[in-house]
Amino acid sequence: MLSWRVVAAAARRLSGIGRASSALVQLNAVLEAELERIRGAGTWKNERVITSRQGPHINVQGSEGAILNFCANNYLGLSSHPAVIQAGIEALDQYGAGLSSVRFICGTQNLHKNLEAKIAKFHKREDAILYASCFDANAGIFEAMLTPDDAILSDELNHASIIDGVRLCKANKYRYKHLNLGDLEAKLKEAQKYRIRLIVTDGVFSMDGDVAPLKEICDLSEKYNALVFIDECHATGFLGPNGRGTDELLGVMERVHIVNSTLGKALGGAAGGYTTGPKAVVDLLRQRSRPYLFSNTLPPPVVGCASKALDLLMDSNTIAQTMASKTRRFRSQMTAAGFTIGGADHPICPVMLGDAWLASTMAEDMLQRGIYVIGFSYPVVPKDKARIRVQISASHSDEDIDRCVQAFLEVGHKHGVIQ
Ligand SMILES: *Cc1c(COP(=O)(O)O)cnc(C)c1O
Repeated sequence: MLSWRVVAAAARRLSGIGRASSALVQLNAVLEAELERIRGAGTWKNERVITSRQGPHINVQGSEGAILNFCANNYLGLSSHPAVIQAGIEALDQYGAGLSSVRFICGTQNLHKNLEAKIAKFHKREDAILYASCFDANAGIFEAMLTPDDAILSDELNHASIIDGVRLCKANKYRYKHLNLGDLEAKLKEAQKYRIRLIVTDGVFSMDGDVAPLKEICDLSEKYNALVFIDECHATGFLGPNGRGTDELLGVMERVHIVNSTLGKALGGAAGGYTTGPKAVVDLLRQRSRPYLFSNTLPPPVVGCASKALDLLMDSNTIAQTMASKTRRFRSQMTAAGFTIGGADHPICPVMLGDAWLASTMAEDMLQRGIYVIGFSYPVVPKDKARIRVQISASHSDEDIDRCVQAFLEVGHKHGVIQ
């Protein structure tokens, strides 16, 4: 009698699975070596498991009791806002779980058209188009709009999705130094020989909370006949007097041509992204943009949540204003205590520490005290610029903020960061 093992092995050989599995052994060896390099470099990313809703107070697997959360992009606290959740439930009930289709085949509901109109109104632009994410919006725009006759000028620290989108596009590429207007101007001069010039920048850069000098960028764009595109993921909903974003904050809403942003941060935090701007741009994206054409329609509950988030923001600017006052409370107390907080007046508050080990150890010590913050180090940020990134939300109470500052004081003393 043959054993089942021998039979199984023979069967595998016959069907070719045996050969495939030696390829798999090889792949495993290659990947294990790469994973080991990531561990060795100290850049391994562990995912903490949350067992509650997203919010200022969360439960985390392995930690006792409620944790104070300072590392979500939930700037306005809308991810778990009762009215946002209710709108999602109603949309689920009325419009179903999803469309099982892309937009142009049979995936467009009035719900989607209404949200696009609302987004355009919110940003005071002509039209808007939804994507499954802002990553997709960034991946899909440049290739669709620009050709080898054109030029794209991109800040070197733009978000990864912009970098990928620029890679896919066939325009002539210029990468200017971070926020450096002199370098941008030099590159605009070089790019005069092309048909269209598009300047591309994050409105706010997420690692430092620094804000692009949009007024000066718009001045240059007008001097050198260029267009301006901004990625507003860390600005939409809360920057500027009415939360319209960096362009509102800096008084250049009419001078910035195209805005990409996300529904996955301040605007309810579910998922989705969009482009808003001139109608011709949006019309072309509906015809040509690959992540739009070849990926599923945004699910109705997600659309319902985002739509309600925008209603709340358009009804009143109190949520956006609350956000600003909480940010000031944190930044002023921390600065007074002797910490260096990077960036402009933004709810992204990088507590600058320098050393990578110090940043990760202090973040662990903070978690021991019930405060969830994350240390960032090379290669996410430059060497010797390690920091703990704190993100303030409108839903933090004053006591939440004071508790966070108090924990920083204790941990900062312990490690000799402050006197
Ligand atoms: C988060 C983020 C994105 C990606 O947004 P998603 O909707 O999550 O894909 C794009 N650009 C910037 C600047 C971001 O911070």
